[in-house]
Amino acid sequence: MKTYQQFINGSLVNSHSSDWIEVENPYTGEIISRVPKGNDEDAYSALEAAQKAQKSWAAQTAAYRAGYLRKMADLIRANRVELAKILVEEQAKILPLAQVEIDFTADYFEYYAGWARTYEGEIINSDRFNENIFLFRKPIGVVVGICPWNFPFFVMARKVAPALLTGCTIVLKPSSNTPNTTFEFAKLVATLDLPKGVLNFVSGSGKTLGNTLVTSRITDMVTLTGSVEAGQEIIKASADNVTKVSLELGGKAPAIVFEDADLDLAVKGVVDSRVIFSGQVCNCAERAYVHRKIYDKFIDKFVKAMKEVKYGDPFETGTVYSSQIDKAQQTKIDEMVSRAKAAGAEVLTGGKKADTKTGYFYEPTVLGNCRQDMEIVQKEVFGPVIPVLPFDEYEEAIALANDCEYGLTSSVFTTNINTVMQSIKDLKFGETYVNREHFEGMQGFHAGWRKSGIGGADGKHGLMEYLQSQVAYIQF
Ligand code: NAD
Repeated sequence: MKTYQQFINGSLVNSHSSDWIEVENPYTGEIISRVPKGNDEDAYSALEAAQKAQKSWAAQTAAYRAGYLRKMADLIRANRVELAKILVEEQAKILPLAQVEIDFTADYFEYYAGWARTYEGEIINSDRFNENIFLFRKPIGVVVGICPWNFPFFVMARKVAPALLTGCTIVLKPSSNTPNTTFEFAKLVATLDLPKGVLNFVSGSGKTLGNTLVTSRITDMVTLTGSVEAGQEIIKASADNVTKVSLELGGKAPAIVFEDADLDLAVKGVVDSRVIFSGQVCNCAERAYVHRKIYDKFIDKFVKAMKEVKYGDPFETGTVYSSQIDKAQQTKIDEMVSRAKAAGAEVLTGGKKADTKTGYFYEPTVLGNCRQDMEIVQKEVFGPVIPVLPFDEYEEAIALANDCEYGLTSSVFTTNINTVMQSIKDLKFGETYVNREHFEGMQGFHAGWRKSGIGGADGKHGLMEYLQSQVAYIQF
């Protein structure tokens, strides 16, 4: 069993706490590592290190800072196979997807390094003679990043890369379920000549150590990726200091299949978007609306395709998904399906925990006879379960899709360009995918509406989250 240390002020150090968090391999049930259950002293040490380092880090050129992002990309690429294996073990993500996550993360560091010479301020026309108005963009300062367990390595980079590039320093807390890849990365970063305190990783409970990080007066911005509940707690906790928050929270993405859709493409798109990483992805298709005229045909093909989805050992070739992250997640899914059944849903396939020797599996599940007001249609399941509802009119489909407290992603399947453009206009979601699976690109902007979040990540607009403006009025 591996034991990890905190990464504070450029060094791997012992925690001030003697408590530990044990990390389970969800597929085998084996305890594979332990990380410190950090306390307030760990939080303060990391924040003070980040605060001390920030001024001189921000004083460097962005091109200089980008050099370190490229070095991080190189380190990840040099260790890509080992990192992917560790990722599989800490969360039961299938190996090919884990490898995609590791490689994508390296590309992500390189992508943001490319912004060094591109982001800029503005010169604004003045109402006065002989005056220039300059808008400068300056780093926010000390950032606290709080990560979920579903894409632990990528989401770490999603916060670290734009923070460091813009001249912020960061203290990042990985999820207690999946801290291993983050601390393996810390070991790699420790071999670089990165200025001390610029990047810090501390593990611990969200409600204690996480809360201390969020409420500290040192913290200038909190970026959380996690559940709506954690987002709500962080909004409350950041109120006293009026600390900026950037929140990427849950989703309940609708997939709309119109009458003229390419049916095979739609079936594949929705299946892929539902079962990827056991359904534990924020942008997953969580509910489908299918035109009544093609409903039966769609259901036949869709149920067949879901039945064929192979689940099992995450290292075995051909496995599509593996265990849920833990027993609690498996139980939560099962209870939601039970309540849906009790409310009248018909199980078209699956509908129960999978009978496997190891792991916390849930069968690929399709539910018919659902109503819009059911919990299973309204709340995030985060598992391989999908209710499919029929609709008759375009307006009805859009209204059903928009009728939801979340607003992260959505998709439409149609061969009519007018339906494509009209639905993009009418859908109230941060992202809309057309005739493809749900999965964003690093140059886009991943930002949810309603309870799915505040602010967003990726691309130019994600970079701006870490910058604040200063306007100078210069009379000459
Ligand atoms: P979670 O909310 O349980 O935990 C996320 C992180 O927040 C953890 O590190 C946790 O320790 C910390 N935390 C919890 N309460 C806190 C508090 N009061 N103060 C400070 N930190 C706190 O979420 P999870 O189960 O790890 O992740 C799954 C959720 O994340 C799903 O809802 C999913 O949709 C969402 N998610 C969203 C995106 C996105 O980009 N929108 C991406 C991935 C996951």
